Amino acid sequence: MNDLSMARTAPKAGFDVNAVRRDFPILSQQVNGKPLVYLDNGASAQKPLTVLDAMDRYYREMHSNVHRGAHTLGDRATTAFEGARETVRAFLNAGSTEEIIWTRGTTEAINLIANGLAARLKPGDEILLSHMEHHANIVPWQMIAERTGATVIPIQVTPAGELDLDSFNSLLGEKTRVLALTHVSNVLGTINPVASLIKQAKARGVITVIDGAQAVPHFQPDVQALGCDFYMFSAHKLFGPTGVGALYGRKQLLEEIPPYQGGGEMIERVTFDRTTWNVLPYKFEAGTPPIAEAVGLGAAIEYLGGLDRAAMEASEEALLTRANELVETVPGMQVIGTAKHKVPVMSFKIEGLHPSDIGTLLDQQGIAIRTGHHCAMPLMDFYGVPGTARASFAFYNTIAEVEQLFTALQKVQRLFA
Ligand code: PMP
Repeated sequence: MNDLSMARTAPKAGFDVNAVRRDFPILSQQVNGKPLVYLDNGASAQKPLTVLDAMDRYYREMHSNVHRGAHTLGDRATTAFEGARETVRAFLNAGSTEEIIWTRGTTEAINLIANGLAARLKPGDEILLSHMEHHANIVPWQMIAERTGATVIPIQVTPAGELDLDSFNSLLGEKTRVLALTHVSNVLGTINPVASLIKQAKARGVITVIDGAQAVPHFQPDVQALGCDFYMFSAHKLFGPTGVGALYGRKQLLEEIPPYQGGGEMIERVTFDRTTWNVLPYKFEAGTPPIAEAVGLGAAIEYLGGLDRAAMEASEEALLTRANELVETVPGMQVIGTAKHKVPVMSFKIEGLHPSDIGTLLDQQGIAIRTGHHCAMPLMDFYGVPGTARASFAFYNTIAEVEQLFTALQKVQRLFA
C-alpha cells in the first residue's frame, strides 16, 4: 500500500478475517435489530480483547503513579508504562524513547508543536499546510500565526483529492518555516507522498510536521525513513483506548523547543527564582500521564504486530476495490476522493439526499458510518458540499459488509427516488 509500510515484525502468515473478528467482542452484536456493520473506523476504531485485558490487568495488578520509585506497585506501573513507550518507538522506528512523548492524542500533539515553534516565527514567515487538513492541523497553526504575525498558507488539492504538487512547488519558498501535512486524509483516504515533500522541505531548512492519525491504522510509518521532524497519532484510531496518543519528535528539536505545559514531572528543579526542565521525554509530560491508556496502546500495537501486515493490507485493499465496483449500483452516487493511492475510506454523496439522512437510514439497518464535514470544512468548501457520508473500513471488515452497505444504500436511494 505504501513504500514505507513494510512490516518490521515477524507476524503469522496469512490473514483470516473471521478469526480476527472474534478478537473484537463489540463487533458481534445487534444494533437496531440487525448485525452491527461498523464502518466508522476513521472516527474511532474498535479494540481487541488483548487491549481490554491489558488495561484491566494493569488496574487489577499494578496500578500506582509512575516515576515515583518508592514501592513495588509504582515500579510495576512504571515498567508497564515505559514498556509501552518502547513499543511505540519500535512501531514508528524512532531512534530513541527520548523522542516519544505521550499526549492526549493527535490534537494535543499538534498544539504542543505549534506552541513550541511560536518563538521561532515572526511576521512574514509562512506555515504551509494543505487544503485537505483536519481542523486539528489548521486551527492550532492559525492561533500561532495570530500570535506571531506568521501566515498560514494552504497547498491546493486536485479535484481527484490529491495534493497539487505544482501548488506545493510554487508555495514552498524562502519564507516557509513549517510544513504541516496529513499523511492520509480523513475525508478522501488519499495517501500523500510525504517522503518526497519532506525531502524538499528539509533541503530548505523547513520544519516538517506529519499528522499520522489516519495513516497508522492502515500502514506502519517509519519516521527515520520519512525524515520528518515530528509525527503524531491517536491511540483510539489505532485500535487502542481514547485519551492517549504519541508524538515523535527529532531529539535535537525537542531539546530546543520549550515545554508545552508546566507542572509536576516536567521539571528538574523548582525554586521561586528559577525552574529548570526535566530531560526528554518528560519535559513535555506535565502531570500524571494516562498510564493505563498508554499500556492499552502498547497492547494494540503488539496485537497488530502479531498479524500478517502484507496480507492485512491486501485484505483492506480488496474492501476498497469491492466498494469501488459497487458504486455504479447506486443511482446518483458520487465518490469524493479518487486518488490513486488511498486507504479504504470512501466519502460520497447521493444526488437528492442529505448526508445525515443517509447516516440515519443506514443506522436503522445496523450500519454505522459518519456524516458531516469531518472536521475538514475548507475541503468541504473546495468540493462545494456542506458535508459527505463516509464509510471508513478497518482490517476487521469483510467483503460481505461492503456488499451490505451497498444493498442498504440502494434501498435508501430507492426510498427517496
Ligand atoms: N488529524 C486527522 C487526519 C484526523 O482524522 C483526526 C481525527 N478525526 C485528528 C487529526 C484529530 O485526532 P484526535 O481527535 O484523536 O486528536
